[in-house]
Amino acid sequence: MIEEKFDAIVIGAGMSGNAAAYTMASRGMKVLQLERGEYPGSKNVQGAIMYADMLEKIIPDFREDAPLERHLVEQRFWMLDDTSHTGMHYRSDDFNEAKPNRYTIIRAQFDKWFSRKVREAGATVLCETTVTELAHDTRGQVIGVRTDRAGGVIFADVVVLAEGVNGLLGTRAGLREMPRPEAVALAVKEMHFLPEEVIGERFGLKGNEGCVIEAAGTISRGMTGLAFLYTNKESISLGIGCLVSDFASTMESPYALLDAFKNHPSVRPFIAGSEVKEYAAHLIPEGGYKAIPQLFGDGWVVVGDAAQLNNAVHREGSNLAMTSGRIAGEAIFQVKSRRDPMTKNNLALYKTMLDKSFVIKDLMKYKDMPALLHTNSGNFFMTYPQLMSQAAQNFMRVDGRPKIEKEKATTSAFIKARSRWGLVSDAVRLAFAWR
Ligand SMILES: Cc1cc2nc3c(=O)[nH]c(=O)nc-3n(C[C@H](O)[C@H](O)[C@H](O)COP(=O)(O)OP(=O)(O)OC[C@H]3O[C@@H](n4cnc5c(N)ncnc54)[C@H](O)[C@@H]3O)c2cc1C
Repeated sequence: MIEEKFDAIVIGAGMSGNAAAYTMASRGMKVLQLERGEYPGSKNVQGAIMYADMLEKIIPDFREDAPLERHLVEQRFWMLDDTSHTGMHYRSDDFNEAKPNRYTIIRAQFDKWFSRKVREAGATVLCETTVTELAHDTRGQVIGVRTDRAGGVIFADVVVLAEGVNGLLGTRAGLREMPRPEAVALAVKEMHFLPEEVIGERFGLKGNEGCVIEAAGTISRGMTGLAFLYTNKESISLGIGCLVSDFASTMESPYALLDAFKNHPSVRPFIAGSEVKEYAAHLIPEGGYKAIPQLFGDGWVVVGDAAQLNNAVHREGSNLAMTSGRIAGEAIFQVKSRRDPMTKNNLALYKTMLDKSFVIKDLMKYKDMPALLHTNSGNFFMTYPQLMSQAAQNFMRVDGRPKIEKEKATTSAFIKARSRWGLVSDAVRLAFAWR
């Protein structure tokens, strides 16, 4: 049994929990971090692109020893139909800068490194310890936690819930609702291993340069979803995710979608001859701004995926997790430094600071986006990719038909599929969502 009282207990050793624990411990606070996994990262799944700026604000010299795979110099956006892709590629030598902006990482290794930094900063980290319950005093203030280990309550002035997307503790304690099926995606992912030089050749990369592909279209069978392929040093991470509500209504299998993506003629050559060593499935919060729950209360704050802080439009999550964890840690430190109690009123500082950050501003910008894509998913993920592919073929195939006829055929295919009014209304809705 742990007798001592802590300044703060952090539940979870993912991106948000590590950011919060590091921020508080490195400022001299007495921090206990509890993680149910065998080691930090053992339960965590990500694509994974890691955004340097947000980690730099926590550990400025992280490049010296963090396990980074490749820095990204190229991004490909693909619209898929069953046999083709229509794409936009952006590659720039500017990304070969001294301090690159985005890296691929492998979470199992990265989280272990981050956790070592948390311990070096002075926090106590206990793995294989599941928090089973929040402990309250008679006024309802959170005063600590109970775990699956023997012993009673472990006391702390404040508890940081960094327990990830499911957030069972928070829901059980009545702090927020379970995420709705239309507000979470289920993603499945595989790791394909290949020699470093083969990956370099296939994607035209030298040294530690990396490339990512993000693909939408018929691959998600009309559901709202996205497939991805990320290059690591000696492996390729590849996966697909769609909204849980769509999986439930269509009865499609995530594994079947992943299989189809791997066997798509545009994807198959990249992973030819690879050895699959890892497989994972995980939820992603995609409800956007409207899904964000109450973020603070008497004796508690919630950060990262548990707070549903995820930007589905830009496919960013770990950076919102790290930033919300850091800001929560800074806010808690400020309250403690003033010797104020960790009450709801005082912890509101976390929300005030978060509102001023890119996290809430970005989520507000796209607040209607998930609903918009969901409502029109058949059009955006089936009809338009097929039409784009037809239009590209019409343009490229030289078969003796006059160009004027081909252009008419392309225009009438669009109008036949969606009608003039349908096309205009989709364009207007998209423009409004992106404004
Ligand atoms: C397939 C996939 C691809 C993704 N790709 C990207 C990407 O490329 N870039 C990006 O920025 N984001 C990406 N994300 C999102 C990103 O992974 C998350 O936003 C990020 O991991 C959230 O961090 P977190 O710390 O809030 O939660 P998590 O990383 O999920 O950590 C939560 C931790 O809490 C622990 N825990 C839970 N309950 C308890 C308990 N009761 N007691 C003790 N410990 C507990 C868990 O074991 C876990 O370690 C992806 C997500 C998925 C699923």
